[in-house]
Amino acid sequence: MPYAGILCAQERSSMGFEEYEPKSTLVVPEHKLTKAKFPFIDIHNHQNGLGSGDLRGILKDMDALNMKVMINLSGGNGAGLKRQTDNVKANAPKRFIIFANISFGGIGEPGWTEKAVKQLEEDVRNGANGLKIFKSLGLSVKDNTGKRVAVDDPRLDAIWDKAGALKIPVLIHAADPKPFWDPVDKDNERWLEIVTHPGRKRGPDNPVPWETIIEEEHRMFKKHPGTKFINAHFGWYANDLGKLGKLMDEIPHMYVEFGAVIAELGRQPKAARQFFEKYQDRILFGKDSWEPEEYTTYFRVLETADEYFPYHKKYHAFWRMYGMNLPDDILKKVYYKNALKLIPAIDKSLFE
Ligand SMILES: [Zn+2]
Repeated sequence: MPYAGILCAQERSSMGFEEYEPKSTLVVPEHKLTKAKFPFIDIHNHQNGLGSGDLRGILKDMDALNMKVMINLSGGNGAGLKRQTDNVKANAPKRFIIFANISFGGIGEPGWTEKAVKQLEEDVRNGANGLKIFKSLGLSVKDNTGKRVAVDDPRLDAIWDKAGALKIPVLIHAADPKPFWDPVDKDNERWLEIVTHPGRKRGPDNPVPWETIIEEEHRMFKKHPGTKFINAHFGWYANDLGKLGKLMDEIPHMYVEFGAVIAELGRQPKAARQFFEKYQDRILFGKDSWEPEEYTTYFRVLETADEYFPYHKKYHAFWRMYGMNLPDDILKKVYYKNALKLIPAIDKSLFE
C-alpha cells in the first residue's frame, strides 16, 4: 500500500474531462425546487403533439411545475397550424398559445413576400398569437438564386411590419453561441458540446462570421420599432450582460428570454440580479427543450440564494450554479406579468 505522498498507478492515471465528476463535499443549505413559487408562462417551448389527442399527459407535467401556459413556438402554418389551434381549443383552450412560423422556400420569386404576409394573417385568424423565427434564417435559408438570406433582408420587412400591425410578438433565435465559431481547443468553453455535437461547429465562412448574423438581427430590430421582438436565449449575450444592457437601452421594443442560457446567469448571480432589477419589465421565462425535470435548475437560480449547485448538462456548463434570490415582485414579472402584456390572448384569471 503506497504511503502518504505517493500515489499508486491507478490513482495517478489521468482521466478524460467527461469522466471527471467529483462529488462536492460542500455542506450548505439546499432548496431543490420542483415547482415554481408563482404560476408561470413558458415563452419558449417546442411540441409536435398538440395537433391531436386530449393533452392530458402534458397538462399533468405542466401542473406539477406550476406552468399555467405553454407557448408552442413550433406552430408551423396553414392547415398544420390550424390543427393545433383547433385541438388546443377543444381540449385545453387556456393552457396553450401557438406561434406561427414562416415557410422560407421560394423567397425571391415574384410575389413571395405578399404570399408570406397573407399566410401570417390567415394563421393569426386561425388562432396563432405570435411569430417564431428559427435560426435557419441567417444560417441556412437561401433565396431562389442560392444566396444566403440575411436576417435583415428587405424582402422580409413587410412580415415584421405585419406582425406589428397584428399586435403579435416575434420571437427570434439568430445564430448560436459564439464559441461555436471559435477554434475547438483548450480555450473554448463549449469544447465538449462541439466534440459531442460536431454538426454545431461553425466558422467565419460557415456560413459567415458570428458578428455578421448578430448585427443583421440588431439592424432589423431597429428598422421596425412598431414591432415587439423577443430575442431568444438572451440574444447570446447572457455571458456579457453589459453588452446586452446596452442593446436593451438602444432597442426599447426588444425583450429577452433565457431559454438554454440559465447556466450563464447562475455563474454570475450578482451581476444577473442587477440586470433583472434594471430590465425587470422586459425579461421572460423561457426554457426551450421540454425536459420537465430540468426546470428545477431554472427555479433554483431565479428564486433561491443556494450556492454551488449542479447544472444538468455538462456541455453547457462544467461550472456550478448560484441563486439570484430575486424578490417576489420581479419573479412575478418574469414568470407571467411581462408575458401577459405581450400576449393579451392569455387568460389573466389563471394568475390571480
Ligand atoms: Zn427553441
